[in-house]
Amino acid sequence: SIVVTGATGHLGRHVVEQLLEKVPAEQITAVVRDEAKAADFAARGVQLAVADYNAPETFGSLFASGDKVLLISGNEFDKGRPAQHQVVINAAKAAGVALLAYTSAPGSLSAALADDHRATERALLASGLPYTLLRNGWYHENYTENLAPVLEHDAVVAAAGEGRVSSASRADYAAAAVAVLTGEGHENKTYELGGDEAWSFAEYAAELSRQTGKKIAYNAVPGEVLVGILTGAGLPEAFAAILAGVDASIEKGELVVSSGDLSRLAGRPTTPLAEAITAALKG
Ligand code: NDP
Repeated sequence: SIVVTGATGHLGRHVVEQLLEKVPAEQITAVVRDEAKAADFAARGVQLAVADYNAPETFGSLFASGDKVLLISGNEFDKGRPAQHQVVINAAKAAGVALLAYTSAPGSLSAALADDHRATERALLASGLPYTLLRNGWYHENYTENLAPVLEHDAVVAAAGEGRVSSASRADYAAAAVAVLTGEGHENKTYELGGDEAWSFAEYAAELSRQTGKKIAYNAVPGEVLVGILTGAGLPEAFAAILAGVDASIEKGELVVSSGDLSRLAGRPTTPLAEAITAALKG
């Protein structure tokens, strides 16, 4: 089987949808915490497995020898993601899966956010399993799904100076994962994945202005000001600091990925940011 963890998350849903276009549904297993969230998948013939990264026994007999597994990194920052991911790696190792692909972060990213990914990569390499590192760059959706405050204040606020980001849509990263899971020759490969075009926050604000007809400015602020704004909006301090750390990395150019791996794996150009903006403004 092709087994996808985090299948009911945003990225996981794209992966399962795109797998359904390529392989019979019964060859796909969606690993979910809540079966009810995956009722639509089950109705289409996708196998469901219920498991939680926090409960190793739930992964006990989930994998079979020869499976190709996509481990989608978790989102519980406070629960120790490397230990959670280790649970999946251990179970995959015990079963003797054919491939364990992991959604990581760009090798160039030095921000604290990357620490869990580097730890998981080390664990995966130490396991001796055939692996693929899908070092995903930034999602367009990190920005385009958070337009409400931008449109309210007519300002894009970031602590990234003139830094650029080569983001791509979740659907693009999903296409790369699906290519790896359904193709051949991806064992022990590391892919640096990012969008074809890098953009600056000033350019992002200009594109928003063009599409909305409003005058939206880029307001570059220092990191500590961004932390204040984000905590003021209700984000926990630790998470706000992580996001400010990402902006600092962007300013240094660490989220520009120019390998071309993403469009090569997807077999098409990546989605332009402008298109993601259009979709978000319609939605
Ligand atoms: P989501 O938050 O939508 O999905 C996270 C998935 O992880 C969900 O399916 C969730 O399950 C699952 N999950 C979380 N904790 C556990 C657990 N303890 N046991 C089993 N499953 C668990 O994120 P996305 O799909 O958008 O992104 C995928 C991952 O990529 C994120 O989790 C994060 O690690 C990373 N990321 C990358 C970004 C980027 O720009 N490259 C931006 C943001 C995140 P459930 O559906 O039950 O909630």
